[in-house]
This record gives sequence, structure tokens and C-alpha cells, in this order.
Amino acid sequence: MSKEENKADCDCRYKVETICQLSDSSIADQWGALSFPIYQSATFAHRGLGESTGFDYTRMQNPTRQQLEYVVAKLEHGIDALAFSSGMAAIATVMELFKPGDHFIIDADLYGGSVRLFNEISKKNGLEFSTADLSKEDVSLLIKENTKAVYLETPTNPMMNVSDIEAVAKKTHEKGAILIVDNTFLSPYYQNPIDFGADIVLHSGTKFLGGHHDTIGGFVIVKDKALDEKLRFIYKTTGAGLGPFDSWLLLRGIRTLAIRMDRSSDNARKLAEHLKTKKNVTRVIYPGLPEHPGYDIMKKQARGFGAMITFEVESEELVESILNNVELIYFAESLGGTETLITYPITQTHADVPKELLDKNGISDRILRLSVGIEAIDDLIQEFDRLLG
Ligand SMILES: *Cc1c(COP(=O)(O)O)cnc(C)c1O
Repeated sequence: MSKEENKADCDCRYKVETICQLSDSSIADQWGALSFPIYQSATFAHRGLGESTGFDYTRMQNPTRQQLEYVVAKLEHGIDALAFSSGMAAIATVMELFKPGDHFIIDADLYGGSVRLFNEISKKNGLEFSTADLSKEDVSLLIKENTKAVYLETPTNPMMNVSDIEAVAKKTHEKGAILIVDNTFLSPYYQNPIDFGADIVLHSGTKFLGGHHDTIGGFVIVKDKALDEKLRFIYKTTGAGLGPFDSWLLLRGIRTLAIRMDRSSDNARKLAEHLKTKKNVTRVIYPGLPEHPGYDIMKKQARGFGAMITFEVESEELVESILNNVELIYFAESLGGTETLITYPITQTHADVPKELLDKNGISDRILRLSVGIEAIDDLIQEFDRLLG
């Protein structure tokens, strides 16, 4: 690919914190508004026959969404980003690239909604799946004649397993398949899978990119022009694009991505250390703890450890007492916002994951997941002292 073709390269002089503030000058607001306008229009008038402004109909293109896609493509070092109405819409659209008989290798520990999509919809459409712990198992031994893609998250949701993106990408490419990485947990502020060989990067924009628990969105980022064209065709045909107002909320959320990630990750590290001191906490899984098996790989491929902690407590009764007694933090699904959330995977995010798989991954009725926010760490520690004694 030439330099000119790679849109993201032209601003590589900027660091990630700065890219969050960029805008696409080619569609700049004519009045110089710093907050890019919300183009709440379904359609755009033509100046004459064969004269498009570049925007025809919002299912295909919208200026506010295009600003957002420009920033996200740069953040993830891709040539293009496609903004969707949810993370799941983004993943479902990627699945449309494949045809009946194509084989996928998916990580054993994934976001529950992705597992539901693969099991309940993609299988019905004729795709085949093999499941493996890609943080441990050798992917090249699982690749078959018809394997078209390997799909992973790192760290995984919720067990925080860490896969070596570069090693998996190399083996995947040797066999002619592509690597798809859901980068939601670390956000592009901390990890850029494309730099390590991923072909498609996915995000739930609902999480750290949006950052305020006020909108739902998703992204697909690609580095290859042919793949981008195929995805753009599916995008305009199936119509799951993000609306103008939500695009604006995402643009605004991204402006503070860097400082939110720094603060919440710093809080997470301190809280993980604190949880380790509790007698009724039997396990703390945070990839920023040196004893985590993925710690060294994280150091190689990520710039930070993120704000997600999974922990196990001694009894189901204690789970119940924690969830019924939270005051400062919220018992809620989702992650990546400024407030700390506690989630119970087996009844929430992973409720539709088959029991055998939950058992295999160690997702028991004593496992809780935290998305640490940007509150004062002393207040968070006090909350957990109250909840855990
Ligand atoms: C939330 C989430 C999704 C799904 O995104 P939605 O925006 O909720 O549709 C996908 N992957 C991961 C890792 C997630 O956490």
C-alpha cells in the first residue's frame, strides 16, 4: 500500500492524545465551529446532475459520522473506520464478509453477545466455528483448509486472558486467514492491534471511546483497501450506520479518552492491589499485576493495562451482599465510562454463554467484573472496605 493510500499515515507525527482532538479539514465546518455540527439530515441536495457534495444519503455518508470515522481510523492506524449503531452491529457486519462453509477459530473467552451472535446466527448461516484458548493454544494446529478467520479479544471479557497478537497474526497469515481483534477493553489509547498484524479491529464504541454511558456505538477499522470496499458495500446495503447525534457524542467522548484512560487505569491498578489484601477475595485478575500470566505480553503490545478487573469472592452469598449493598459504584452492565460499574457475568454479559464454556473458562457464580471509573481512589477503596469488610 502506498503512503498516499494510507490516510492514517499523514498524521503519524501526532501522538494519540493529540489525534483525539483532530478533525478532517476536508469537511471542516464553513463557519469554523470547533464542536463539529450535528448534520441531522437524512438526505443531501445535489447541485446538478452528476454533482454530489460527497454526501447523498445518511445511510451511506454523513458529515458528522465521517468526522468521527476519520478520528477513529487514525487512532487505530487504519485506512478507514466504519461507525455502527452498536458494537454488535459492527461485528454482525464483519460476519457478512463470509459465506456458508467458511471456518472460524474463535477465542474461548469472548464477550457474551459475540458468542450469541456466532452460535445463534452465524452458525445458522452456515459458518463453522472452533473454539480455543488463544492465550495458550497454538492456533496453527487448529487451522483447516476452509479457515478464513481467527477472532480474539485481548485481554478477554471477562477472564482477562492475554493473547500475543503478533504471534497469532503470523500463524494466521501463514495459513492464508485473517485476524480479527476486538480491542474494546484497552481502546486505541493503549493498544493498536493493526501494528501487530491484525487485519480487522473492532470496538464497542459504547465503552471507553464514548466513555460516558450515554450512547451505543461500534466500529470496524481496516488497513486494506479491498477489504474496506467490501465492508463499505455491506454497510450501505444493510444500513446499521451510526446516527448523527450519536456520532457527535462519540466525537466528544473521544476528546478526553487519554485522560479518562490514564485515570481509570491508575485507579484500577490501586484497587486491584487493595482487593488482593482482602481475605474473602479468593482471586484478583488484572493484567497489570506482575503475577498475571499475560503481564509480559501486555508490556510488549500495549501501552497500559486498562481499567477492567475481574475478581472471585469466597461465596455466592458474598456476591449477593456486594451487589445489594453498593452505594458509590453501580451494579450495571457495560464498561468504560467515568463511573465504576460492577457486573455479574453469569447473569448479565455472559447469560447466554453455554454452561460448559462458562465452566471451562472459570466463569463461576463467584466471579465479578469491575469497570473502574475516574472517582477518587480513596472513595473507591472505602466502598470496597465497606462491601468486603
Ligand atoms: C460491549 C461489548 C461488545 C458489544 O458492543 P455493544 O456496543 O454493546 O453492541 C462487543 N465486544 C466487547 C468486548 C464488549 O465489551
